[in-house]
Amino acid sequence: MVYPVLTIVVPCYNEEEVLPETVFQLTNVLQTLISDKLIATTSTVLFVDDGSKDATWTFIERFHASSPFITGLKLAKNAGHQSALLAGLMKAKSYSDCVVSIDADLQDDTNVIREFIVKFHEGYDIVYGIRQDRSADTFFKRATAQGFYKLMTSLGVKIHYNHADFRLMSKRTLENLEKFQEVNLFLRGMVPLLGFPSTQVYYDRKERFAGESKYPLRKMLAFAFDGITSFSVTPIRFVTLMGFLLFALSVVAGLYAIVGKILGANVTGWTSLILSVWFIGGVQLLALGLIGEYIGKIYKEVKQRPLFVIEKDLTASGQDQEAVH
Ligand code: UDP
Ligand code: MG
Repeated sequence: MVYPVLTIVVPCYNEEEVLPETVFQLTNVLQTLISDKLIATTSTVLFVDDGSKDATWTFIERFHASSPFITGLKLAKNAGHQSALLAGLMKAKSYSDCVVSIDADLQDDTNVIREFIVKFHEGYDIVYGIRQDRSADTFFKRATAQGFYKLMTSLGVKIHYNHADFRLMSKRTLENLEKFQEVNLFLRGMVPLLGFPSTQVYYDRKERFAGESKYPLRKMLAFAFDGITSFSVTPIRFVTLMGFLLFALSVVAGLYAIVGKILGANVTGWTSLILSVWFIGGVQLLALGLIGEYIGKIYKEVKQRPLFVIEKDLTASGQDQEAVH
């Protein structure tokens, strides 16, 4: 029997503090899965160093030298979590039958990978890891995340509640994901669009093993806003709706002013005038900003700049290329 080759892709940005533990846990997972004859012996963990400023890459090289299970990809500069993850997925796609993506900080339960693989053997192409208990997250993070999922769903975006980027994807899923060619990446929104057989596995989200979150509030909000504007044009429709409403309102106000004038009422109206000017000005700027956001996205898409640049490649295929140089 031929066993599937699994690659676990781990994007890392300044993760030297957690890396040894992550390597230890993921290697264990691979070894047990191999001895239980669920995956091929050539399965590996692929760490993607997203332009870290600490010793992350040195660690990856060292682990690679001492373990056949560890490989690495070094991006030339920080590309962001989503792009780093995509870099790993696209690399792993060529030599893996299935790929599991997981964060480096061990917040997601590594033991769940086994359930992912069992589901893969049952014939599922995509297995989503769903956080059922988020009590380890702060109240604020939970509340904002909840609000985000609700908003996305109400905007008509198919997204899984409490699923981040901990999931399994089959080779054909990745091959089709590659065709998307989107520069504004929001993977957790793109994968459900593929429509392959999928299922969910629940787990408890833990606290970060060590180090600090690389997603401060500012980045988190930007990511959420990006996700919304990459997947839905409803906000622009809302601008049109607002225009209609204000127009209707202005007709009523105009009639009121004209009738008042004819009836000889003394129209003073400085307050209403100044309020309207400011209000309309504000609404217009807001609308322009929102439309500008979409234009900015189109601008980025049109340029089609590469999302990441690979500087070093420790995978077998990368080493072959090095040899040619
Ligand atoms: N990450 C990355 N590039 C970045 C920021 C983060 O590759 O620019 C990685 C990070 O090392 C981690 C994962 O993305 O493996 C998720 O980041 P983090 O755990 O800090 O986010 P949080 O769980 O707090 O949302
Ligand atoms: Mg984390």
